[in-house]
Amino acid sequence: MELLTNRSKLVTNKQMTFAEKLYIPAILGGLRITIRHFFKKKVTVCYPEEKREHSKIFRGRHVLKRDDLGRENCTACGLCAIACPAEAITIVAEERKKGEEHLYREEKYAAEYNINMLRCIFCGLCEEACPKDAIYLTDRISLSNYERNQFLYTKEMLVEGSEGNERINIDARRTGIRDGAM
Ligand code: SF4
Ligand code: SF4
Repeated sequence: MELLTNRSKLVTNKQMTFAEKLYIPAILGGLRITIRHFFKKKVTVCYPEEKREHSKIFRGRHVLKRDDLGRENCTACGLCAIACPAEAITIVAEERKKGEEHLYREEKYAAEYNINMLRCIFCGLCEEACPKDAIYLTDRISLSNYERNQFLYTKEMLVEGSEGNERINIDARRTGIRDGAM
């Protein structure tokens, strides 16, 4: 019979030898591999005690940005939701009312903005689609949780604070995108 690949093995009903029945050669073979790896340089990182440095263009947890005056940049145009291949983003738009100019930069804003982080594949297409500099992926990792509903990130969880120390700095990511740095 012609084999499909050179890695396939024919299965036989061959009786095991006495040595094979003892399993000692197989156990010693396994131990040899374990010991060999024991002295090799570790590729794993003991997170969270040790943290690996992320690249400038690491795509982590999203942030909804504000402008220099602290107003939300997002105009609820929905382009990010359309661009999202995982259909993870849902938005409810509202018209800005008189007296809310200090809250929202545009005449329309996102009253609700949700990202289902269980669907998100961190592709960054929402960021690329946004014409208003409103959404960015950051170097913050998305936290693990035990409840599925905890992965529905609401606008309150996504939008950055308006105070100076609450702002999420995305300069490195912006520069990384521009330079194509890794
Ligand atoms: S990073 Fe990709 S998958 Fe995640 S919300 Fe943005 S477009 Fe959707
Ligand atoms: S984040 Fe950007 S693309 Fe998405 S709705 Fe807001 S302005 Fe539009």
